Amino acid sequence: MRGIWMRSDDGRLRLTVLGGYLGSGKTTWLRHQLHAGSFGPHVHVIVNEAAETPVDDALLGQVTLLAGGCCCCVGQGALIAALRRICNTRSQIAAARMDAIVLETSGLADPGAIVAAIQGDPVLVNHILLAETLVAVDALHAVSQLTTEPLGRRQVGAADRLILTKTDACAPADLAALRATLAMLNPVAEVTAAILGETVALPLLPQGAKAAILLPLSDEDGRGPILPTQVQVGLDIDWSAFALWLSALLHARGDDLVRVKGVIRTPAGRLLLQTVRRVVQSPEILPDRPDQGQDNRIVFIGRGYRPADLDRSLHQFLGRPQPAPSG
Ligand SMILES: [Zn+2]
Repeated sequence: MRGIWMRSDDGRLRLTVLGGYLGSGKTTWLRHQLHAGSFGPHVHVIVNEAAETPVDDALLGQVTLLAGGCCCCVGQGALIAALRRICNTRSQIAAARMDAIVLETSGLADPGAIVAAIQGDPVLVNHILLAETLVAVDALHAVSQLTTEPLGRRQVGAADRLILTKTDACAPADLAALRATLAMLNPVAEVTAAILGETVALPLLPQGAKAAILLPLSDEDGRGPILPTQVQVGLDIDWSAFALWLSALLHARGDDLVRVKGVIRTPAGRLLLQTVRRVVQSPEILPDRPDQGQDNRIVFIGRGYRPADLDRSLHQFLGRPQPAPSG
């Protein structure tokens, strides 16, 4: 692996952009790499989530959170402003040691647009060196995503390095087909693999695998844009009834609902709930801490429904009136 943590020779801050489709394993990878010190001791992490309230802040330690909009498009101004502030602090305060920035983009972001915005900023260009664009690729779901989602293709195309995740759960023939597909989309990207965030060797793969057939796609495919929605659930929510509702919803609408994520307070503790398409990831118990207004807010990322529909469906299912509307 390249020394992505090394200081740049000219004193500029090295910026690594970490992208990848919703549920591709970006956060898991970043948490592990930060813990392992891969970005050096003085790293500033910027996390952008497309939903209004990010839910990963508990997981990363010292970070700048950019909430309220995807920083490749609507949140681009906020990202540039945050980077300028960080550069200012670094140049004005000698004690503010900082060697690197890692930007974890939202799953809806096109890393290429972010890189272009940073490179085009007349101030940042003097302070920031774009070190590498990393894109996490979910080995289990990537081929189907790349078949239907123009965004997935743009993300792969923007990568300097592709990090294949969940490779241990992927059959060698499928992994070989994925690699061929990725090579077609981005023949220059280095390809590595990681399992639960830890870098592992790519398995030996069968020769001669064929790339998936990717038909041209327009962003206007009639299904509408993918957008985040939040649903607030009460602290007294019946957890098993909620789980039943969620599985029914994923069963019926898993193709439209690309991601569900939230922290829910349950009798067993604070539970991090995540789904990717129809797959519900095993819930993770988070360290207990006082509610900072983000618990029991569940973010749904998908399309083809109105935010109010989700709220109504859930509360009808639970057989109780809706709480006051939220974000
Ligand atoms: Zn965007």
